[in-house]
Amino acid sequence: MKIDILTVLPELLESPFAHSILKRAKEKNLLEVKVHNLRQWAVNEYGQVDDYQYGGGAGMVMMCEPLVNAIEQLSKEKELDEIIYMTPDGELFNQKTANQLSMKENILIICGHYKGIDDRIRRHFITKEISIGDYVLSGGELPAAVVVDAIGRLLPGVLNDETSALFDSFQDNLLAPPVYTRPANFRDLKVPDILLTGDPKKVEEWRSEQSLERTKERRPDLLND
Ligand code: SAH
Repeated sequence: MKIDILTVLPELLESPFAHSILKRAKEKNLLEVKVHNLRQWAVNEYGQVDDYQYGGGAGMVMMCEPLVNAIEQLSKEKELDEIIYMTPDGELFNQKTANQLSMKENILIICGHYKGIDDRIRRHFITKEISIGDYVLSGGELPAAVVVDAIGRLLPGVLNDETSALFDSFQDNLLAPPVYTRPANFRDLKVPDILLTGDPKKVEEWRSEQSLERTKERRPDLLND
C-alpha cells in the first residue's frame, strides 16, 4: 500500500513512521509512506500556500492552486483510491474506517493548517473527510499519523503474530480483555487463576466473557451497533 501525505510541516511527520511497527511495514515493503511539502507547489517564490479569508476574520486559509496542482501531479503518478482531508468536522475515525482504508492501494492524505483549506477543494477534490475526535488541533499532521498507524498495522504481514490485530479492541465491536504478564503475584496482586491453568479452551472462554463485560461496562454503545 502507498500513502502520500501533503503538508506544510513535513518535519512533524519524520519520526512517527520511522520506528516500531510502521518501520517494519516499510522495511518489508508492505507500506510506502511519502511525505510531500506543499510548498513545492507554492504560488510564488516566497513559498506562499495560504491567504486571507474572504469576508474578513482572523486566520489564513490554504489556497486552491497549490493543493490542486499537488493533487493533479500525484494523481498522474498513481491512481489515487481516496483523497482524504483531515478535519475536525469530518467523519469520526474508527476501526471500521481503518479496516476499509487498509484494503486500498493508494491514498493521499491532506493535512490542513491555520483555518483549514478552501472549501472548493473540499467539495470538488476530496473524496473523504476524517476527524480523529471532537477537539481541534493546530494541524492535520498528528491526525494523519494516527490514521496511517491504524491502517499500517492492519496490513497483512505487518504484525508478527498475524492474528493479533483481530483480538484488539473494536474488531468485533468489543473491547479487548485484560492482559497480564509475569510475575503471577506482584505485591500480593494476583493474576486470575484461570490464566495459569494452561487450558486454552478455558482461557479463551474467560477472555470472551471479560471482553463482553468490559464492553458492557465501558462502551455499551458498541453493543448496540
Ligand atoms: N477552523 C477549523 C479548524 C482548523 S484546525 C474548524 O474549526 O473546523 C487546522 C487543521 O488541523 C485542520 O485543517 C485539520 O487538518 C487539522 N485538525 C485539527 N483538528 C483535527 C481533528 N480533530 N481531526 C482531524 N484533523 C484535525
